[in-house]
Amino acid sequence: MMPAQPLSDFVSFDEMLPAPGPAPECLHPPRVFAPVVDARKCEGKAACAAVCPYDVFEVRHVDRRELPQLGVRGTLKWWVNGGRQAAVVRADQCHGCGLCVKACPEDAITLQRVDGAAA
Ligand code: SF4
Repeated sequence: MMPAQPLSDFVSFDEMLPAPGPAPECLHPPRVFAPVVDARKCEGKAACAAVCPYDVFEVRHVDRRELPQLGVRGTLKWWVNGGRQAAVVRADQCHGCGLCVKACPEDAITLQRVDGAAA
């Protein structure tokens, strides 16, 4: 039987986030990519808002009137997480660095090319 792993080997969620500092070198200028949050997956944990160097996200309370758009799974997550979800509020500031995609523990964020953006 293997010995139990000591608790000190585990890291907290905050330790997984990159240290605050200057924005990373981005491959793209603004308005080429924009993040899309899947409301059926988001649990409002705010990892995206914590890592984004350009303040693209806000974590907000989703009103009950928006529940029909979330489906059964999203509505259940809404209820369990007190109605908090990430919203893309400054998509035009996104530089496509991908930090939010990597940070989201629910795999709820994808980057999409903005319509009409040069390839
Ligand atoms: S890709 Fe980078 S700049 Fe764009 S929203 Fe995510 S973290 Fe912010």
